[in-house]
Amino acid sequence: MALFTVFGNPIAHSLSPQIHALFAAQFQLTNSYTRSLCSPGQFAATVSRFFRTGGAGANVTLPFKEAAVQVATHLSERAREAGAVNTLVPLGQGQLLGDNTDGLGLVRDLQTAGVRLSGLEVILLGAGGAARGVLPALMNAGVKQITLVNRTRARAGQLAGDFPQYPLKIVGARDLQPLAEPYLIVNATSASLTGAKLQLPKEVLGSAACVYDMMYSGRPTAFLQEAAQAGAGEIRDGLGMLVEQAGVAFSIWHGGLEPDTAPVLAKIRRDLLNR
Ligand code: NDP
Repeated sequence: MALFTVFGNPIAHSLSPQIHALFAAQFQLTNSYTRSLCSPGQFAATVSRFFRTGGAGANVTLPFKEAAVQVATHLSERAREAGAVNTLVPLGQGQLLGDNTDGLGLVRDLQTAGVRLSGLEVILLGAGGAARGVLPALMNAGVKQITLVNRTRARAGQLAGDFPQYPLKIVGARDLQPLAEPYLIVNATSASLTGAKLQLPKEVLGSAACVYDMMYSGRPTAFLQEAAQAGAGEIRDGLGMLVEQAGVAFSIWHGGLEPDTAPVLAKIRRDLLNR
């Protein structure tokens, strides 16, 4: 039986074991996928023990995605760009590849929903790990420009400084105006975890073709409800991104096997609603 896990703290809430069990069932694989709670000082040692004892692959979630960059002996281009690792792949002889599937997860979820990213303008809210992870993937998918909005402006400046090759603009939330061309708003802040307001002008939310909140609970967040009330073309939560990033990781670990993500997303959403 192949052993997989997800490292994080907290970790009890993680949906990854259910998602990966559903993927494995599609190929009649009897994988084991567990949750590994790590104390902050123990992350590297716990990862090393897992792979020494036969681990076939692992995911990494909060707060260890940056620490996982140090644990990996090799990095994929997208992990290097994101400065964060969410997928670890054993290469043999103690070598570990660190990859990042979050950005591709978002892009695939948007594309599945019929959002054409090529030439689209994006307003990206947040400048933390999630924003950093999805920014290169959005640019590589062909978006025209990204407007960065973050509560702490200096942090947005830092993020933009790390990607001088991309057309990025920094604007304060209250100074935002609806864009002239169709645009997508991606909320990559953690504000939805507490229900905190993002102070975006109503007309900016209402004129968006699509408003996406990376947070997921199975139900629309207050931010998405506000966007729908303001008249946004479409609202989407981050559950699809979660399932898609898991699908990319599964494929990496299983020599290119591509799980069918749509029924898995539908089942996970149903389960969340029935909780
Ligand atoms: P970080 O802690 O690295 O960054 C948090 C960001 O949110 C910062 O930009 C911070 O701004 C901003 N923020 C926090 N509170 C507020 C507030 N009250 N008002 C305005 N801005 C605020 O977190 P991550 O980037 O790792 O995660 C962000 C979100 O993305 C989480 O909700 C996480 O669950 C989600 N996520 C979803 C994934 C999925 O698969 N769907 C994958 C990865 C993440 P400041 O710089 O000013 O502090």
